[in-house]
Amino acid sequence: MKTLLLLLSFCMSQVALSECVHDFQTTGIDLVARESGSNLFVDLAHDGRYLPLDEVYKSLAMTVVYDVQKLESHTKAEGYDDRYIKYYHYSRVLDFLSEFKPVFEQSGYLTETIGKSLAGRDLKVVFPKTFDPNKKLIIMFGRHHGDEGTANWIIEGFAESFFSRPEILEQYQLVLYPMVNPDGAENKVRYNNNRRDLNRVWANNPSDSKDEIQSIHTHMAKLVEQSGKKPVIVLDMHGSFDEDFIYRVGRSTFGASYYQMQQDFIDELGSRDRWQAGNFILSEGSPGMARIRLATVHGWHTLTHETPRDIPLNNRQNRKLQSLKDQGVAALNSIEALY
Ligand SMILES: [Zn+2]
Repeated sequence: MKTLLLLLSFCMSQVALSECVHDFQTTGIDLVARESGSNLFVDLAHDGRYLPLDEVYKSLAMTVVYDVQKLESHTKAEGYDDRYIKYYHYSRVLDFLSEFKPVFEQSGYLTETIGKSLAGRDLKVVFPKTFDPNKKLIIMFGRHHGDEGTANWIIEGFAESFFSRPEILEQYQLVLYPMVNPDGAENKVRYNNNRRDLNRVWANNPSDSKDEIQSIHTHMAKLVEQSGKKPVIVLDMHGSFDEDFIYRVGRSTFGASYYQMQQDFIDELGSRDRWQAGNFILSEGSPGMARIRLATVHGWHTLTHETPRDIPLNNRQNRKLQSLKDQGVAALNSIEALY
């Protein structure tokens, strides 16, 4: 079992936030020296909006340190579904939710639209009509980043299993935000229609969170206040460039017991999911990430679950759409085993 993929990467003058070439901080003076067309996006105003470097050269302040992201994705490629595991569209989440609505209702769950994306698409949530104080709470987010479609197949597997098992419904309750960024999903891009990275704009107070996250955060804050519950786990489902792993903070961030709690989940999941296999990356992330913000404000056990977003149909491991759904089942079984 691989227990550590990457501790911290230092690339030249950049301070790594996660994987060094993909998400890093650097100064204006470094950025102006870069070639155009470098696929770099810069958070110029520190407001979670990532603008192409080519557009912001002239506005960069030399000594200011900026958050920068380097994007790569096959998702937009022509004939994607002929070469990769089927892309998960916004329409699919609507179909899935309407297909499962009778099951949700039977289990005492509501499916609601809690707001609109910038382009007017529905922001959906599935949650229990009334919270049972005796049941443990799970919160799950999907698709902060639009082009990370595989995450949604995992969520489907998780939800299908959750709602088909009476012993699970007896012990747990789920609040599921399956597609936080439907515009990004439809446009096959990471960002929302304001070019915001929605996993950088969670604030302490819901009213200060930005765009789609404001609706999601407001809904969640009300629900949680109503329930008075601390979730046993919050899983934020994402798609990586090439590996399965969990993003988690270091031992000193929230203390040894928080670290151990996260390690226990990573180990349990690794024993049930051969792709995750106990892999993790230590990352302090950024304060506007769901994983960091919810842990900082509430002390919640929050992890980011990463699976490759572009899985070729002809892959050596014989990984299929069903394998992704099975990863969702593995996550649920890990929760059941631990909490
Ligand atoms: Zn992501």
